[in-house]
Amino acid sequence: MSQTTSAAPSTGTEAKAAEATMVEHWIDGASVAGDSERTGPVYNPARGVEQKRVRFASTDDVDTAVQAAARAFPGWRDTSIAKRQQIMFTFRELLNSRTDELAAILTSEHGKVLSDAAGEIARGLEVVELACAMPGYTKGEHSENVSTGIDVYSTKQPLGVVGIISPFNFPAMVPLWFFPLAIATGNTVVLKPSEKDPSAAIWLARLMQEAGLPDGVLNVVHGDKVAVDALLEHPTVRAISFVGSTPIAKYIYETAARNGKRVQALGGAKNHMLVLPDADLDLAADAAVNAGFGSAGERCMAVSVVLAVDTIADEFVEKVAERMSRLTIGDGTRGCDMGPLITREHRDKVAGYLDVAVDDGASLVVDGRGVEIDGEPDGFWLGPTLVDKVPTSSKVYRDEIFGPVLSVVRVDGYEEGVGVINESPYGNGTAIFTNDGGAARRFQREVTVGMIGINVPIPVPVAYHSFGGWKDSLFGDAKAYGPRGFDFYTQEKAITSRWLDPSHGGLNLGFPQHD
Ligand code: NAD
Repeated sequence: MSQTTSAAPSTGTEAKAAEATMVEHWIDGASVAGDSERTGPVYNPARGVEQKRVRFASTDDVDTAVQAAARAFPGWRDTSIAKRQQIMFTFRELLNSRTDELAAILTSEHGKVLSDAAGEIARGLEVVELACAMPGYTKGEHSENVSTGIDVYSTKQPLGVVGIISPFNFPAMVPLWFFPLAIATGNTVVLKPSEKDPSAAIWLARLMQEAGLPDGVLNVVHGDKVAVDALLEHPTVRAISFVGSTPIAKYIYETAARNGKRVQALGGAKNHMLVLPDADLDLAADAAVNAGFGSAGERCMAVSVVLAVDTIADEFVEKVAERMSRLTIGDGTRGCDMGPLITREHRDKVAGYLDVAVDDGASLVVDGRGVEIDGEPDGFWLGPTLVDKVPTSSKVYRDEIFGPVLSVVRVDGYEEGVGVINESPYGNGTAIFTNDGGAARRFQREVTVGMIGINVPIPVPVAYHSFGGWKDSLFGDAKAYGPRGFDFYTQEKAITSRWLDPSHGGLNLGFPQHD
């Protein structure tokens, strides 16, 4: 395997990032080309052009990364908590001071607008701060004198090499949900970011090195199913953290479990927002537009369905449409509200749903296909789209569209609204907009969804609460970050200890009992 001095995005300037034509792997603290000839395109979605290529790792390349992580593990596990914490604090400072640099990379490869990219980094930074608080979450417990002269205590130890596989829509935040906690707790990592926007992961790995992380503790391999399968099947990898679409999450869960690994697999979503007649309709309409079209709807916690009660539905749809007419769409570097979609293929797939909606009897209130763009015509554009009276039998309702398409389903009241939410196979996030505390309280108890917003449209928990959906939005029982994140990356040992004195002698073959 050759090592290169690729100009992949470094801690330098945005211009330096743009020079890179090939995004390489990052193994054992160095940029590595690997032995695979396979590569994939990295687009600038706002211009509609290929700006870089990214290496697709072979099984051998993944093995090289796993071996590097395995070599680094004993030294890193034995590094004092104080030293690990100090590296995390330094990383936090560096990341905080270079947010603009990383945001520029996110906007150039993903397309989200710069302010949204900065927001993504801020939410990732929260988890880095949580990682700095690792000692408080991993202390273990101690019971003195459980039997005469015997103490029992538990300790939480790292697993070893862990694999992280992340999606395109949060190229910085999702890796940051996982690797800071995995590393702070003493594990070593092989990260496989999305091949669609891979540079952020490399940038973060270089920044960790600058913060003082020893080589081999955080490795990044790029690629597709070949790289993912190599991680899932590698006997040295102890655990897998995955975020992506539901079919792949299910595959990851099953395959990793079959290979004896601990696995958390977060899947796709279809998030409903129930608007009751007593809600403040202006606030609810603001929330629906913000949560529906932020990041062009490419968020796992985006609101993609509004359940509007019949009595206020016409008025609500009118308010939403009026707000949509004020949004500016264009290149994320120009201060627009909404950028392009990730690829031309994805844009075409999302746009294809609009004909389906009409065929299924829904009404297209705002058609994003004719939107005016502040940017280049070849960008992967689709404007904000509003579809009313969507039947729940339609693919437009059932599929996770993952684009700027907001569906309105009309319901006759609270009961029907909750029924629709609970019949959905997804259960990531949901929200209720109401001024009735009793209805809100019933809602939080009755919906079969993992994260609930009460007058809050995108209820992503803060870093010290864990993140995870229910049903087809999370396979396994392990949530991301927060207390559950620390649990996932550690294994508990219980120690029963007695320091002998002469009174402890004598033979007794009975099962140990307490005295
Ligand atoms: P994806 O499932 O296509 O890809 C996710 C990862 O899996 C990528 O690294 C990709 O390379 C890999 N992958 C893709 N196909 C594979 C295959 N056949 N075998 C093995 N690995 C494969 O998802 P995406 O399009 O990158 O991201 C969008 C999806 O992620 C949406 O469904 C969104 O809801 C979901 N998501 C969920 C959450 C959450 O917290 N639940 C957060 C962000 C995104």
